[in-house]
Amino acid sequence: MHNSTQYAHVILPLAVNGYTYAVPSNMTVQVGSLVYVPLGKSRHYWGIVSSLSDNQPAGVTCKDIEQVAHSFPLVTAAQLQLFSWMASYYCCTMGEVLGAAIPTLLLHHTYKPAQVTYVRLVGDTSLIKREQQLALLDRFNYLASLAAVRKTELLEGQSLSAFNTLVKNGIFACYEQETSRLALLGSQQPWPDLTPSQQIALQQINTLFAKQDVVLLHGVTASGKTEIYLQKIKETLQQGKQVLYLVPEIALTAQLEQRLQRVLGNKLVAYHSGLSDNERSEIYLDLLQKKQIQVVLGTRSAVFLPFQNIGLIIVDEEHEPSYKQYEPAPRYHAKNVALIMAQMAAAKTLLGSATPSIESYHLAQQGKYGYVSLIVRYNQAMLPNIKVIDRQDAFKKNRMKDMFSWFLLEKMTEALQAGEQVILFQNRRGFSSYVECPACNYVPKCKHCDVSLTYHKKSDKLVCHYCGCSMPVPQKCPTCGAEALKDRGFGTEKVIEALQNYFPEAKADRLDVDVSRSRAQYQGVLERFAKGETQILVGTQMVAKGLDFDNVGLVGILNADNMMNFPDFRSGERAFQLMVQVSGRAGRRQKQGLVVLQTTQPDHYIIPAVLAQNTGAFYQQELQERFDFSYPPFVRLIEVQVRHKQLEVATSLIQQLASVLSQYQQVEILGPSNALIGKVQNQFVKQFLVKIKGNSQSVRMQLVQMAAQLKKQNSSAQIIIDVDPM
Ligand code: ADP
Ligand code: ZN
Repeated sequence: MHNSTQYAHVILPLAVNGYTYAVPSNMTVQVGSLVYVPLGKSRHYWGIVSSLSDNQPAGVTCKDIEQVAHSFPLVTAAQLQLFSWMASYYCCTMGEVLGAAIPTLLLHHTYKPAQVTYVRLVGDTSLIKREQQLALLDRFNYLASLAAVRKTELLEGQSLSAFNTLVKNGIFACYEQETSRLALLGSQQPWPDLTPSQQIALQQINTLFAKQDVVLLHGVTASGKTEIYLQKIKETLQQGKQVLYLVPEIALTAQLEQRLQRVLGNKLVAYHSGLSDNERSEIYLDLLQKKQIQVVLGTRSAVFLPFQNIGLIIVDEEHEPSYKQYEPAPRYHAKNVALIMAQMAAAKTLLGSATPSIESYHLAQQGKYGYVSLIVRYNQAMLPNIKVIDRQDAFKKNRMKDMFSWFLLEKMTEALQAGEQVILFQNRRGFSSYVECPACNYVPKCKHCDVSLTYHKKSDKLVCHYCGCSMPVPQKCPTCGAEALKDRGFGTEKVIEALQNYFPEAKADRLDVDVSRSRAQYQGVLERFAKGETQILVGTQMVAKGLDFDNVGLVGILNADNMMNFPDFRSGERAFQLMVQVSGRAGRRQKQGLVVLQTTQPDHYIIPAVLAQNTGAFYQQELQERFDFSYPPFVRLIEVQVRHKQLEVATSLIQQLASVLSQYQQVEILGPSNALIGKVQNQFVKQFLVKIKGNSQSVRMQLVQMAAQLKKQNSSAQIIIDVDPM
C-alpha cells in the first residue's frame, strides 16, 4: 500500500466557499465532520468537511486539519446536499448557509449539555451526631427511597454548611449527570376525531399523495386544517417517519405547541429563534443522534435541522411572506426549501392555507400540485359577515371619531357588553405614520435613510422603521420655527391610546413587532387574550396569522387603504390575504362573527373579493394581470441591489451588473433605478429587477460571478442578490 494523503474540502462559516486541507495520517474525518483548521497567518475556524478526495488540488499546498470535534459527522449527507442547493439557488456561499443552519454553540464546538448534580452516600452514617447533619441524613434517606437524589432538592430547607461538612468527611459524594434543557411532556390525550367533511378532505389528500408529492389544502379559516395535519402526522409516525411542521410566526408556535403536545407528548419539539442556542443545539443533536424527537414544529430555520427519516413536511399558512428571509444571506424561502428537502428525501409536502399564494394556486390549477378544498368551518360555524364603512363619507357626515367610525364604535360596545372579545387590525406600528409641521409641511426624516420617521409615544421618540435609529421630537418645527409638529395617520400605539377614551373599562393589549421582540411579552399578550383577561387586541399583520380564539365576536379593519395602495405587484394579493385572514379570526364558534372594514376606497376591486370570500374569481383576475405584465408565476424574478456610501460608485456597479445580463434574450431588466427607499443607513441603494422566462440558472451564475469580481475591486460595496424576492 502506498501512503496516500487524504484531502478534505472544508466549509467555514464565512462568506466564502471553503478551502482544502490535508488530513493528517493519524486522524479520521468523514464528510460532515466538524474540524478545526488554520486560515491565513493567525486565524483558526471550526468548519464542516463537505467532501474528501485522495487527490491534492493542483497548484496549492494544503495546511493540515488540526482537530476533529466528534467521532460522528455533525452535518448529514442529506443536509449537505440541501445546503449546496440553497447556496446555488439563492446565490450565496455554503459558508453563509452553514452559519445560518447550525446552532452557534455546536458550530464553535462550545456546546455543553446541561448537568445536574446528584448526591450519593459513600461513608459511615453512624458517625453523624450533629442535629443539622442528622436532619440532612433523614431527608436524604427519604428522597433516596423515591429516586436518585438531586443536590438542589436535598438542600431545600437544610443547612449548606452541614452538607459541605458531610461531603468533606467523606459521607456524601456528588456526581454530575447530563440532563435535558427541553421541557418534554408525556402525551395525555387521544387524537381528535375528524368531522365528516374533514374526513373527506383527508381521504382526498391521501388519494392525491398516492400519485403526487405536493398537495395544497385550501381550507377556509377555522375549517380545522390543524386537525387534518394532526391525522397526517399520526399516519406518518405510524410509518416510522418524521414530520416537519412549519409555521410562519414564532408567536404561533406557543398556541400550537400546547395543542400538539397534548397528543404528541415528548415526540414533539418546537424550534424557533426564541429558544436559547443551548436549547437549539440540544434539539439538533437529538435529531442527529436519532433519540426521541419525531415531530418538529418550527419557524423557517427548522428546515436546516438534521432529519434522518422525514416522511412529511407541512407548511401551514403557506402564503405567508415571513417564510422568506430578507437579511442576511441566505435569502431563502422556507417553503421552497421545504419542497426541495422533501423531494430529495422522497417525502410528501402538504401546503395549507385559507388564502393560498397565487403561485401555489396556479401550480395546483395546472395539476402540478394536488388540490383539496375544505369550504365549511368546524361545527358549522358561519364565515363572518363583513360590513364595509366608507371612511371619507363617514368623516364628511361627522360620523368618525379618531380612527373609529360610529358604526364600529357601536358594534364594539355591543360586543363588549355581550362579553365578546374584539380584534382591531391596523397595519402600522408606532403612534402615528409621520409627523408634520402644520405651517410649512416639514416632515422629519431619518438622517441615514430616505424615509420619514414614525412617532412612538411610549418612548416619546421619532423612530426610523428601517434602521431603528431614533431622535427626540423637536419642540418647534426646526425649519420654520413657527409651530409644534402634528402627527398624521395612526399606528397601533395610537389605537390603544384612543381606546382609553372610548372604552375606559375594557382592557386592551397590543401585538406587533415592538412587543414581540421579547418572547415573554408577546406570549403574555396572547395568554391574557386567550384567558379573557383582555377584551381588545390591537395588532398589525401578526393578528392575521392563524390565531385561534373562541370568543372573538368582532374584528375591525381600521384602514384598508395603505395595504391596497402599496406599490408592488403583490399588494392586491397581500391585501386580500390579510383581510380574509384577519376576518377569519371572528366567529370561530357558534355565533356568526362580524367584520367592520373601514376604507376610503369601497369601490376598489379587492373589497368585493374580500366580501364574497371568492378566492377563485379574484385569483383568476390577478393571474391574468400577472400574465399580461409578466410577473410571477409566469416569470422568475431576481432583485439585484448595490449599496455604497458614494452615489457614483453605487451607480457604476449596478450598471456593470446589469450589463452582463444584456446578452440574454429571455431576460428583461427593469432599471437600474433608485430603490424604493433610496438611502438606507447612509448608503445609497441602487437596484434593478430581472425577469426571466424559463430557467434562471445561468443568469444566477453570471450575477454571482460578476458580483464576486466587483467585490474584489470595491470591498466596501454591498452587493445583494435576492432570488424570488417577496
Ligand atoms: P384552521 O387552521 O383551519 O383555521 P383550526 O384547525 O384552528 O382551523 O380549527 C378551528 C377550531 O375548531 C379549533 O379550535 C379546533 O380545535 C376546532 N376543531 C376543528 N376540527 C375539530 C375536530 N375534528 N374536533 C374537535 N375540534 C375541532
Ligand atoms: Zn434610518
